[in-house]
Amino acid sequence: MSAKPIEYSPAAFLDPDLTLRVIQEIKRTVTRPWTIMEICGGQTHALFHSGLDELLPSEIELVHGPGCPVCVTSLELLDKALAIATQPDVIFCSFGDMLRVPGSQKDLFSVKAAGHTVKVVYSPMDAVEIARQNSDKEVVFFAIGFETTGPANASSVLQAKALGVKNYSILVSQVCVPPAMHAILSAPGNRVQGFLAAGHVCAVMGYWEYPPIAEKYKVPIVVTGFDALDLAQGILKNVQQLEKGTHEVENAYTRVVTFEGNKSAQKLINEVYQPCDRNWRGIGSIPMSGWELRPAYQEFNAENRFEIGDIHTQESKICIAGSILQGMKKPFDCPAFGTLCTPDKPLGAPMVSAEGACSAYYKYHSLSGIK
Ligand code: SF4
Repeated sequence: MSAKPIEYSPAAFLDPDLTLRVIQEIKRTVTRPWTIMEICGGQTHALFHSGLDELLPSEIELVHGPGCPVCVTSLELLDKALAIATQPDVIFCSFGDMLRVPGSQKDLFSVKAAGHTVKVVYSPMDAVEIARQNSDKEVVFFAIGFETTGPANASSVLQAKALGVKNYSILVSQVCVPPAMHAILSAPGNRVQGFLAAGHVCAVMGYWEYPPIAEKYKVPIVVTGFDALDLAQGILKNVQQLEKGTHEVENAYTRVVTFEGNKSAQKLINEVYQPCDRNWRGIGSIPMSGWELRPAYQEFNAENRFEIGDIHTQESKICIAGSILQGMKKPFDCPAFGTLCTPDKPLGAPMVSAEGACSAYYKYHSLSGIK
């Protein structure tokens, strides 16, 4: 028999006792093994940081999804970024995480160390301002990210256009969650039976794209936040559905997410971007899984502005990031984990990124698991 229903309030999301009650409810509910994927790398780190992974019953296996923008930015695009950043009179702007991601031969950090101008910025708007103040230079922003970064990156293009800033462009690597879920669920060897959908992505886009996925693949999808109680609640709702054999989309992050999402943000995205096929690092091309600049904004496309020449990518032969990002393997399955590949000397992007699964295992489990 189930315990008294748990009442949630906004303040309750910081209450560890309530989280423990939800975990007890998970233990009461589960009767057999289930594999659940948290899509977002931020949620992977939150799960380990809170210790939730160790409190769950052994029947629940969590696998870690591709929702780490640094991890899935294609090697070809990263090599293009490196080629642009080494051109004269270029100021290359990027979020800090990208600087240590290995390209085929080098990374942006080593380009910076060699004397080229690579700046870490916290917003694309900072890059527009840098362009405004350096009219004799070409300023390029590395516009990576999921739906969450789309509005700000699109706004920077509109801002540059409105201000008449001609020396600003963006190198676009925007990716979208729902097509990746299709790719994971339809891949041979898929193990994912339920999803925790990323709350911040749904805050922008809503979750109206998810019911057809839940219906087609018969998987529950629960929109989930980032605190321990959010995550425990998302897992509980998945387990309840899996045990009952249902496949609904549920919103366990109602304090932030609505079904429609943020219409103003979506309008900004649709003004500047259009859907396109994208290559995901380690996974390959996923149809209509990204955005590119619309024809009206091609003057801001860094790929048009620079002569880059042929790019010959060379991925590490050891790195199994692609299998990890699709939930087929875990970081401990990688022979290089913690030995040839560490945060100080990464072979693959998931060991670099603050949202990467390998860096989460290294940070929180390298002492209890493999050294
Ligand atoms: S531990 Fe390093 S080499 Fe192995 S999968 Fe992770 S990033 Fe790639």
